[in-house]
Amino acid sequence: MDLSCTEEEEDFRRKLRDWLGTALAELPPKPAATDWPGRRAYDCAWQRALYDAGYAGLHWPRDAGGQGATPTQHLIFLEETERAGAPYVGANFVGTLHAGPTIAAEGTPEQRARWLPPILRGDEVWCQGFSEPDAGSDLAALRTRAVRDGDSYVVSGSKIWTSHAEIADWCELLVRTDPSAPKHRGISWLALPMDAPGVTVRPLRTLAGSAEFAEVFLDEVRVPVSHRIGAENDGWRVTMVTLSFERGTAFVGEVVACSRVLGELARTARANGLWDDAVLRRRLGRLSAEFRALWRLTQWNVSEAQRSLRDGGSGVPGVGGSVFKLRYSQARQELYDAAAEVLGEGALDVDHEWVADRLSSLSYTIAAGTSQIQANIVAERILGLPKGW
Ligand SMILES: Cc1cc2nc3c(=O)[nH]c(=O)nc-3n(C[C@H](O)[C@H](O)[C@H](O)COP(=O)(O)OP(=O)(O)OC[C@H]3O[C@@H](n4cnc5c(N)ncnc54)[C@H](O)[C@@H]3O)c2cc1C
Repeated sequence: MDLSCTEEEEDFRRKLRDWLGTALAELPPKPAATDWPGRRAYDCAWQRALYDAGYAGLHWPRDAGGQGATPTQHLIFLEETERAGAPYVGANFVGTLHAGPTIAAEGTPEQRARWLPPILRGDEVWCQGFSEPDAGSDLAALRTRAVRDGDSYVVSGSKIWTSHAEIADWCELLVRTDPSAPKHRGISWLALPMDAPGVTVRPLRTLAGSAEFAEVFLDEVRVPVSHRIGAENDGWRVTMVTLSFERGTAFVGEVVACSRVLGELARTARANGLWDDAVLRRRLGRLSAEFRALWRLTQWNVSEAQRSLRDGGSGVPGVGGSVFKLRYSQARQELYDAAAEVLGEGALDVDHEWVADRLSSLSYTIAAGTSQIQANIVAERILGLPKGW
């Protein structure tokens, strides 16, 4: 594993720092957390600024419209943007972090040309229609049907927990195209236009009061066959590509943010006269070690991906992403539990950023595959333990 930066990579860091200095000064004020159209506009404006400056799709391959940057440059980008306090992907997370990379890896040249540039420019927002009321951890049990009718599929069923469905233009949708096949074999991956007739979105409120996800009902929605990514009934394999991006790389930028919050926590604890509390100091110290270890794990994963790309490999993250997701989601919850202790009575103020983040951190051990499912993957596919052990 080689974690050192080349002269070219250090030069990349310097130029990025300079650009961030001017670009961030021009950003409009952040919209309220509950103003989803405003948040979409803000996040897409930032995506557009990245695009204009040549930083959008940094690590995507050049033939997918990306910059073909090395994984190390991508990590430098995440480090520097977070340190500078730049916005993260926000409403664009499905498009930029997993639907886009999946289309880049599995789409035809026409499909890449249709969907990737608008994602990179921040013109089109995507959501993820995978989970159903009876198909979450057991995702392959999904029942939304797609029946072929000429050049279209006619899709009926329902999805749940669809993040950002209300403000999305497209949905990465999993459907059952062969009900007679074994459950993993009869699935296809479709790009669904969210304004198609027959699509109804019903927002769901989180415990923090935000309508960031929704139920999506599909009533005989016509989706062109040309919107299918990958072969018919080969959607489970395509889904594994999407999930490996979602678990392998989608949370990486947040580790740097957690380290920053930890530093602020220590400063607040000192200011509030809590620094004499040895138990609290030990807790913050252990968390600091945890986030450093997670960042090193990320660098290791990235170093491996870099080596695989050099050797002509796919660059699709492997099951190691499950190790990261499992530990990161728990460490994030522990970080915000410590924040609540430092805040004292202030922890009851739901408008405080740390309190809102504490509430949302509860979802991290559920979303993108629960901790139990990640533990199963680690046990079976990395440690080689027998199924159901
Ligand atoms: C904030 C948030 C955002 C989300 N966004 C999206 C989105 O945009 N699109 C989307 O499609 N989905 C989304 N989801 C849904 C998420 O993927 C599912 O909630 C998750 O996969 C779990 O499925 P479930 O809720 O049906 O729980 P279940 O699958 O019913 O699980 C219930 C419990 O049983 C455990 N369990 C289940 N099977 C096993 C097993 N084999 N071994 C051990 N334990 C097991 C689980 O770990 C869990 O504790 C989101 C969820 C959250 C919380």
